[in-house]
Amino acid sequence: MNPVDYLRISLVDRCNFRCQYCMPEGADIQYALQQNLLTQPELITLLREVFIPVGFTRFRLTGGEPLVHPGVVEIVRTIAQFPATQDLSMTTNGFLLAGLAQDLHNAGLRRVNISLDSLDPDVFNQIIGNRGRSRWQQVWDGIQTAYQVGFNPLKLNVVVIPGVNDQEVLDLAALSIDREWHVRFIEFMPIGNDDLFQNRGWVSSEELRQQIRAKWGLTEGQVRGNGPADVFRIPNAKGTLGFISQMSECFCDRCNRMRLSADGWLRPCLLNETGQIDLKTGLRSGIPLEHLRQQVSELLLLKPEINYKQRDSGTTGAYSRTMSQIGG
Ligand code: SAM
Ligand code: SF4
Repeated sequence: MNPVDYLRISLVDRCNFRCQYCMPEGADIQYALQQNLLTQPELITLLREVFIPVGFTRFRLTGGEPLVHPGVVEIVRTIAQFPATQDLSMTTNGFLLAGLAQDLHNAGLRRVNISLDSLDPDVFNQIIGNRGRSRWQQVWDGIQTAYQVGFNPLKLNVVVIPGVNDQEVLDLAALSIDREWHVRFIEFMPIGNDDLFQNRGWVSSEELRQQIRAKWGLTEGQVRGNGPADVFRIPNAKGTLGFISQMSECFCDRCNRMRLSADGWLRPCLLNETGQIDLKTGLRSGIPLEHLRQQVSELLLLKPEINYKQRDSGTTGAYSRTMSQIGG
């Protein structure tokens, strides 16, 4: 069993995109009220006084969209300077990245995952729910800037949806050939937009690998990171291809992570709400930090029993909170 030392921190539950598979336009998403979000000092206190003392050393900032948080650079700087921090990374949609990449790098961020579901600006617009000016170019510029600034590894996340972007799998995989970019295909989960999932279905990692293997062949690969991805490489490519197969394979036994939501709930599993702790209320009500550490330590002990296999899902398998709310 892996030690659980990796915390995914949702900085904010809101987002400047409306991805069809996550928080689609018109969906009834219950955002946390501003006063219920962890403040920046509260977040830092929880990290320094609770998470680090119980053994967390690796952190990923996510959301919602982490770059819409006004304190994001300062938060990166503070976490990067904790002596205990062994790894700090971020998952972003990249829209605000071009302007922030250098500051984030200067503050100590070294690894970034950027979502890029399509190379076609029209398809991209359709996926992110944007009816206005195309946002694809700005995301692409963000990716290029992050690459030039020196983020390494630079990973691109792709959620493949049948009939929406599955025709682009080879083009997206080809991004790993000439550049040291790591393209990761994530299986679409029924979390966020169950109607889309029911109507379109999902594509397994193995189906994607078959397509890619038929075109170029595939060899085993390696890339630094915490992820549950199975990593391959197109022969002689500079980058790698990762496959995150949470629908077709269960990797609960390898799970080394917990999630802190923007409103201060600590969850032991993305897909199972058992055991979650309301750390914000604990902190605000003045519970001694020692007690909060104790609660988190107890949850760490329970974690191996709380997983996707024993999840409490409805008949369709859909979940009540979206990735953006939990901290995907
Ligand atoms: N806004 C940032 C972004 O999009 O990269 C960070 C938060 S987002 C919730 C984190 C990751 O979750 C993204 O890579 C996104 O593609 C993925 N995601 C969201 N909903 C998903 C779903 N229903 N199935 C699979 N992946 C999903
Ligand atoms: Fe926003 Fe990321 Fe969800 Fe897309 S996947 S709506 S960018 S939080």
